[in-house]
Amino acid sequence: MQIGAYHAPATIAEAVRLLAELPDAVPLAGGMTLLPVIRQRLAAPDAVIDLGRIAGLDTIRIEDGSVHEGTRQPNRLVIGAGTTHATVADSQLVATVLPALARLAGDIGDPAVRARGTIGGSLANNDPAADYPAAALALDAWNVTDRRVIPAADFFQGFFQTALMPGEIVTAASLAIPACAGYAKLRSQASRFPVCGVFVSRFADGPRVAVTGAGSQGVFRATVLEQALTADWSPAAARAARLPEAGLLSDANAGPRYRAHLVSVLAARAIAGIMDTAPAA
Ligand SMILES: Cc1cc2nc3c(=O)[nH]c(=O)nc-3n(C[C@H](O)[C@H](O)[C@H](O)COP(=O)(O)OP(=O)(O)OC[C@H]3O[C@@H](n4cnc5c(N)ncnc54)[C@H](O)[C@@H]3O)c2cc1C
Repeated sequence: MQIGAYHAPATIAEAVRLLAELPDAVPLAGGMTLLPVIRQRLAAPDAVIDLGRIAGLDTIRIEDGSVHEGTRQPNRLVIGAGTTHATVADSQLVATVLPALARLAGDIGDPAVRARGTIGGSLANNDPAADYPAAALALDAWNVTDRRVIPAADFFQGFFQTALMPGEIVTAASLAIPACAGYAKLRSQASRFPVCGVFVSRFADGPRVAVTGAGSQGVFRATVLEQALTADWSPAAARAARLPEAGLLSDANAGPRYRAHLVSVLAARAIAGIMDTAPAA
């Protein structure tokens, strides 16, 4: 494995400074993706900046909506970027206000991946089949970085592409808390990543449906499903709605036709298994 230098800053500010000063330096979170990439010599960064020692990057809290410029906004669930999938899965707070997310986190990869992989690493990596990006889109996430807040709709920009600028660090994901939400996926037997996954949420202003593992440009919102569910919030309505095949992925796992079918089936399963949330007052 080729790594030029290793740094473990104690603060976000120090990490940002190192990333700006050192040529070709990259942030390291859980290393679940980055280290295999380096090991396979697909990348050889001059330096890795380990975010793992930064205090407070793994906190989970409710952000009181009333703090936003005098207008009453709904509360949000804020999860620090360094929070591991296992911690999200085990969090009592997440289980209470967003149980579908706790279940999503507890179903990622295997125990070793969940013990090291982080929500920030998953969002920044934007693997086209990763679970968290679907939740982020369906929960109107604000991806918070060291310098700005990026709505999920602008953040994910294609296969492994995000709106992050070089040296920019995700510090937290701020998620809207829906009335209810559900997630269903079909796993690849080989990689354990989703062949396709559908996150469904229901807010006062309507449903949101986000799909991972099926789009040729990565994660996306399925407006056809959202329209069908606005008219009739039921598994039957989800199953009857059909995505256009154009723009769907074709790979060794499945072609566009099968994926279009999967999206309907998984959306129906997500709704059937829905779990009401209990928004904190
Ligand atoms: C065997 C295996 C199975 C897996 N199965 C699944 C699965 O089923 N579903 C799923 O969703 N995922 C799966 N994953 C991916 C895993 O869950 C991690 O989310 C993913 O590897 C990235 O998280 P990480 O914390 O390990 O990030 P790293 O590997 O450390 O980093 C990934 C990338 O993000 C950048 N980065 C990391 N943190 C930040 C930050 N805070 N700000 C800016 N950039 C950052 C790094 O520079 C790097 O480019 C699997 C991984 C493995 C190895």
